[in-house]
Amino acid sequence: MTRFSLTIFFLLVVLISFGQVRTGKDSLPVNPPGMKVTLLGTGTPPPIMERFGPSILVQAGSETLLFDAGRGCLQRLRQINVSYAKITALFLTHLHSDHIVGLSDLWLTGWLVSERTMPLNVFGPTGTDEMIAHLQKAFSYDVNIRTEDDKRLKKEGGKLLAREIEQGVVYEKNGVKVIAFKVDHGIVKPAFGYRIEYNGHSVVLSGDTRYSENLIEYARGTDLLIHEVVIAPDTLSKSDPKYHIVALHTTPEQAAKVFNEVKPKLAAYSHIAKPYGNTEQEILNRTKASYSGPLVMGEDLMSFSINDTISVNNWQNK
Ligand SMILES: [Zn+2]
Ligand SMILES: [Zn+2]
Repeated sequence: MTRFSLTIFFLLVVLISFGQVRTGKDSLPVNPPGMKVTLLGTGTPPPIMERFGPSILVQAGSETLLFDAGRGCLQRLRQINVSYAKITALFLTHLHSDHIVGLSDLWLTGWLVSERTMPLNVFGPTGTDEMIAHLQKAFSYDVNIRTEDDKRLKKEGGKLLAREIEQGVVYEKNGVKVIAFKVDHGIVKPAFGYRIEYNGHSVVLSGDTRYSENLIEYARGTDLLIHEVVIAPDTLSKSDPKYHIVALHTTPEQAAKVFNEVKPKLAAYSHIAKPYGNTEQEILNRTKASYSGPLVMGEDLMSFSINDTISVNNWQNK
């Protein structure tokens, strides 16, 4: 290489490097003022196509937070082009299987296809440490063999880091605060709901709960309250074989009472339990009999943009 071509070569290297730095800076995400909340799955244990397992995505600034990992959460993330590699943390409300059965798929398939390089932090109630340790043991054959066989995969990206939480602030990063609070899910103790705050805005997720005074305290004045619901006939007796399901959840009438106390800018239903075949319209009608504020029936991939106003977007291309 002549001296001239060497000079040109170094000039090019400098220019390209400079260009990359600039591109990097230019492509830094501009933090939007509000938050985006997407219902990935609005269902309960029955495996139906219309409502996947419970899972909610909250995007605020540079944070991409996932709450519960029900059946199909990875497919739903794929539908909205959010890669597993982008999830900054996963929070579990409780350890009922419908809320965690998608975790292994999210973790393992997500690692494989997104080439995540960092471990995933999993926050959850007592029992989370043990569950994550067992999961990692159960899938160790796959993780080890893939790490050895596929040099693209980073070992660190195939790890889960469990953190058991108590009521209070459990996460604070890049202007986003996540507060866990206890809810009342019968014998499932503790079970948590979450309040997520960012830039003067907030969303509250009920998790699975019966009518809960503690939820009302933590949710008061929030922009968006996403609450679970169960509907059963008025005449239901305690001897009914499905009574225990209803006893663990919140009826439309009880939810109306919660909404009247909390006064959210918008209330939305998710984790919609209809063990007796009632319709969504019946849930809305029975709620609206005693609550007149804004309310929507959640659907899979429905999203909410929370700014000074809240906009609701339905997914059209399922
Ligand atoms: Zn559930
Ligand atoms: Zn539950």
